[in-house]
Formats: sequence, C-alpha cells, structure tokens
Amino acid sequence: MGQDLTALIATIHDRRDDLIGLTQDLIRIPTLNPPGAFYRDICDYLDKRLSKHGFSTELIRAHGTPGDSEKYPRWNIVARREGGHRGDCVHFNSHIDVVEVGSGWTKDPFGGELIDGKIYGRGACDMKGGLAASIIAAEAFIDRFPDFHGAIEISGTADEESGGYGGVAYLAEQGYFDPTRVQHVIIPEPLNKDRVCLGHRGGWWAEIETFGEIAHGSMPFLGDCAVRHMGAVLTEFEDKLFPAMAQRTTDMPVVPEGARSSTMNINSIHGGQPEQADDYTGLPAHCVPDSCRIVIDRRFLAEESIDQVRDEVTALLEGVKAKRDKFDYDLREINMVLPSMTDREAPVVQVVADQIEKVLGAPAQFVASPGTYDQKHIDRIGKLKNCIAYGPGILELAHKPDEYIGVDDMLDSATVMARSLAQIFQT
Ligand SMILES: [Zn+2]
Repeated sequence: MGQDLTALIATIHDRRDDLIGLTQDLIRIPTLNPPGAFYRDICDYLDKRLSKHGFSTELIRAHGTPGDSEKYPRWNIVARREGGHRGDCVHFNSHIDVVEVGSGWTKDPFGGELIDGKIYGRGACDMKGGLAASIIAAEAFIDRFPDFHGAIEISGTADEESGGYGGVAYLAEQGYFDPTRVQHVIIPEPLNKDRVCLGHRGGWWAEIETFGEIAHGSMPFLGDCAVRHMGAVLTEFEDKLFPAMAQRTTDMPVVPEGARSSTMNINSIHGGQPEQADDYTGLPAHCVPDSCRIVIDRRFLAEESIDQVRDEVTALLEGVKAKRDKFDYDLREINMVLPSMTDREAPVVQVVADQIEKVLGAPAQFVASPGTYDQKHIDRIGKLKNCIAYGPGILELAHKPDEYIGVDDMLDSATVMARSLAQIFQT
C-alpha cells in the first residue's frame, strides 16, 4: 500500500470526533416524512459544511411534486467539487428524510446520544450515518489529493421514504444524473459495511374494489354484499396466486432470503360503512355493504415482467367474474416501480467490492434489496446504470425503535468510500 493511501486512512481515523459531531447534528434536525419537515434546515446545514470544503452547492426545490407546499417545501442539495483535472464524477446520494418515530424508544429519538460507540436516533442508521460517512470520506480524500482527476458530488435529497418523487426523481428529470455529468453513483443506505447492494425488486401497488347493492341488513337477499364478493377474490388469491408466487424464485441475491420469491401483501381492507370515531357511542346501522376495497402491494422479480404481474391479477379477477353471479370489480393501479439490477461487472461494483475486501479482510457480499430505494430513478429516469447502494448500518435496524449507527462501522465504510475514490480517480 502506498504511503499516500496510508495517510488517507489515517486522516479518516483522525476525524472520528468530527464524524460523531456531524452525525449527531444531522440526527438533531428532525426531518420527519411525512410531512417532510426541516428539509430546508438540513440543506442549509449541509450547504454551510460543504461550501467550507470547496464544494459549489445548489439548493433545488422540487416545486409541485407530491407533498410540496409553502409549509413543507421539498428542498434538495447538490454539492460538487471539481478536481484539478478532468475525469469521471463520483456521486454520493443520501436521502435526508426519516420515517416517523413510533413507540418503544428508550433514547431520545432526536438526541443523537453517543453510548458505547453507538449513536442513537431516528435516521441514525437510515441514513444520516451513511451521509456523514460519505462526507468525511470525500473531505478527507480532497484534503489529501486536492488535485485529483475528476469531480465528487454529494447530494442530500427529499422524500425517499415516500417514493422519492420530490427528491432523486425530480433531480433525475432535471438532468442531474445524466451519464454525461455523473459516471458513478454510491447510495450510502444501511446495507451493512461488507455488502454491495446491486439493486432491488420491482413493486406494483393497486386498489381492487368489488361492488354490491345496499339493502336492509335484516333482508340481505334484497341487496348484494360487496364484502362477500371480496371474500371470493381473497379465496382465489389464497388458492392460486400465493402458491404460484411462492414457486417463483430469482437469481437476484435478495436479502433476507424469503424475499427471493415473489411476494404480495394485502395492505388494507375496507368494506361497508366507515368505522366510527373511538368516542362515538352509537350502534352501527344495519346495511348490506355496496363496496369493498383492498390495496395490494405486489413485489416482483427481475425475471417477471410488469405486464405478467398485472395480467395475472386481472385474469384471476376475470375468473371470479365468470363463475360468480353479479360479481363486478374495478382495478386501479396506484404506483409501479420496475426492478433495478446493476451488472456485477460494472466499474463501481468492482471498485467498491475490491476495497471492502482490502479494508475488512474478507470478500464483499453481493446483495439486492427486497424493497425499492432511489436507485430506481437513477436507472429509469437518469439512464445511469453504474449505481450501487453501499453504506454503514444494520439494515434490520431501519425504521425500528432505538435505531443506532456504530461509529466504527461508519469509519470502516468511510475508509472503503475514500479508497474507492482513490481507485476510481487513479490517484
Ligand atoms: Zn433509507
């Protein structure tokens, strides 16, 4: 190992306290989504920090995207630092939003407490720790090699937890992920410091409604029960769809292993009268329900096409219609995300895997994510294929109470990231 590389690693470890302070500062800005709070505050904080280190910054509001309002504007930041010579651009993308706190916490969710080498708080692991690690990696690299060949970008983006439309999708539409501008993307999501995440499964969300006819509950034969019709749909799913999905497996290295099959969640079910408020003391009226709705969350594999996924559900509904008297339904698509998989031979995959092995002393694991993340927009809208997720933090802690990030894990990942920069820029 060259002396320069040894010095780079030492620089990162010297900045342990800075890394801790930065992570704590980020956690203490409660960027809850929904509603999408304090996005401007965290962008201003990042602006100040990165400007000081020679980055030119842009604050970009995703006007008119879902959730954007004067009260909760969708702010994003893109910071870019040019090297001394032309070359590739490496972009680190982190989402700045965090999910709701939920119950069961024993630590202050926005306190950023440091206890036994772990920093606690909502977003510590998903993914303010990853953002902090990438900042320390980039700054240390730039301080050691200010004259490098290429450019480094760091973005902090809104709304990943709610689909990314006011964040990465918006930036991709504006050309920020055009392959002529950015060549390598690393998303420091918490996939564990020894894993390279190549992509994710697809998702299809739809609402199915069955119809009936309202009548007095004492004479249901005069009406038609929409809930019983939905029961027939669910039976069909149990008998045919779930067994068929369980048979289908993927070559994608999805973790956990249960997600290597197609899956579907019944997200919600509503039929008949709306539920009354808890403080309502009256009794329900006696009515035959004339409508029943479910929302389905179907996750699909790279080996399945979105048309197959849609057609399979439609065919089952048509099958029920053919054999069941007075059955009618409506199927409305809510959202759709195609699977995304970066090639194992792609440059950013090779470089980061190589550096994981050098830093941690064991070969990198290659994984794919059961749920989607912002890679989908970089792939489909940005047309940029050389993209992975790599960052510190234990995936299973994301969205849980007492979420934390290990300081040593952040330092190890920052080292992998900085050494990857050195390898890509050939310094
Ligand atoms: Zn995340």
